[in-house]
Amino acid sequence: MNKTILVCGAGGFIGTHLVNDLKAKGHTVIGVDIKHPLYEDTRCNEFYKQDLRDANMVDFIFSQHEFDEVYQLAADMGGAGYIFVGENDADIMHNSATINLNVLESARKHTVASTLKIFYSSSACMYPEHNQLDPDNPDLAEDTAYPANPDSDYGWEKLFSERLYLAYGRCYNMNVKIARFHNIFGPQGSWNNGKEKAPAALCRKVAMAEHDGVIEVWGPGNQTRSFLFIDECVEGIQRIMESDLTEPVNLGSTRKISINELVLLIAERSNKRVTIKNIDGPRGVMGRTSDNKLIKEKIDWAPDEDLETGIDKTYRWILGQIESGVEDV
Ligand code: NAD
Repeated sequence: MNKTILVCGAGGFIGTHLVNDLKAKGHTVIGVDIKHPLYEDTRCNEFYKQDLRDANMVDFIFSQHEFDEVYQLAADMGGAGYIFVGENDADIMHNSATINLNVLESARKHTVASTLKIFYSSSACMYPEHNQLDPDNPDLAEDTAYPANPDSDYGWEKLFSERLYLAYGRCYNMNVKIARFHNIFGPQGSWNNGKEKAPAALCRKVAMAEHDGVIEVWGPGNQTRSFLFIDECVEGIQRIMESDLTEPVNLGSTRKISINELVLLIAERSNKRVTIKNIDGPRGVMGRTSDNKLIKEKIDWAPDEDLETGIDKTYRWILGQIESGVEDV
């Protein structure tokens, strides 16, 4: 069935990939973002280059279409160099919370609650810091979210907005889905504009390094993460949207790897020998890995592509950007 779908954040990394997949499935896709996609033309049927902090504009967009589904991916966000340095905290909280307030309220006013499905992209950053101190043994099961203690204001905003979506679900009978993304990576993500995440930043550093070069890594390097390739994320988002889930679920990989190990993996895949130099820098929590028990139990989903394949695709894309002299913005 052809659906009419709104993607908020359609100019972003995950939004661009999601739009492409929804279009390939034959849906009518309306996109909105404050900027166009950085690395390709959008495939949306219609693209509003607009600011979702503007409540009148959001209202206008909802008044123009009858949406079957809304994917809310827009946020003021970036990697550790953006969300853990402090100076962006007020903007992050204000901008992302305003976007979520506007989108939900317009969705409530302009759509029939029982027929609309609305997806919200939360983050692993909303989990309590005290469960992520041990690199080898982080605890990120969904039911550990409270008592809340995220390590960043970015995480607090995500937690607030999760609650906002759940409240609209309860009070206005809206069909709300929430996923907590864990480090999504792949081609067409930011790689050199200050908003890049660890996999893209490290692929760039390795790609630009001389053979036997030195790679600087923020923090001690034994901090652990898990990384989910973008195609798996896009599939997971839609599986969650199609499900009857009513509670937030993790969407990530369970393959835990330290940041230093990730550098060595990228170097090995690109046939380079590098030396790691761990330096002071924003590093986030010491251990973070997706716990996939709930999503496996509820909708029988687990990622099946290995990290190496995703890294190869991402590295090749970033190398191509560097070789063709593409400047990020
Ligand atoms: P992204 O920064 O590439 O995409 C977000 C998009 O939102 C950007 O294109 C940006 O221009 C847009 N946006 C920001 N402010 C806006 C505004 N006022 N009006 C309209 N558009 C605006 O990030 P992404 O990696 O694609 O992430 C998508 C969502 O997933 C975000 O909500 C993010 O917090 C969440 N998330 C991502 C990850 C990850 O690893 N990429 C992890 C956890 C959560």
